[in-house]
Amino acid sequence: MKILFDKVGSTPKPFALDHEGMHFEGTLEKSGYHRVALKATLGGQLDLICDRCGKQYTLDIAQDLSFSLSDQMIEDKDDLDIIEFLDGVIDITYIVESEINAIEGSFHYCNGCEGSEEELEIAF
Ligand SMILES: [Zn+2]
Repeated sequence: MKILFDKVGSTPKPFALDHEGMHFEGTLEKSGYHRVALKATLGGQLDLICDRCGKQYTLDIAQDLSFSLSDQMIEDKDDLDIIEFLDGVIDITYIVESEINAIEGSFHYCNGCEGSEEELEIAF
């Protein structure tokens, strides 16, 4: 799903996208001369492989996201919450895929392994 940067105004523009079993829904709103604020929620279920026991499990995702989008090069590369769309086209699908990749790429334990860690902490 692509939205032209120039089409986003100061009135929040709603969008909704279903992508690979995930639902991404929110608004785009102009927040500055070359800035658009994205506020959205990502929900759904992801099939993940546990980093501890190697079992496949399903993770329920429900998270709020907010990003600043720019159609210009950002000088301050330290600000990780800014996403550049230099061609002036906001690619919502790309944002969802990046988020899914970030979740899949981070350490995650299945419920069984998280539970066993808790038990170790409690049973001293
Ligand atoms: Zn596990």
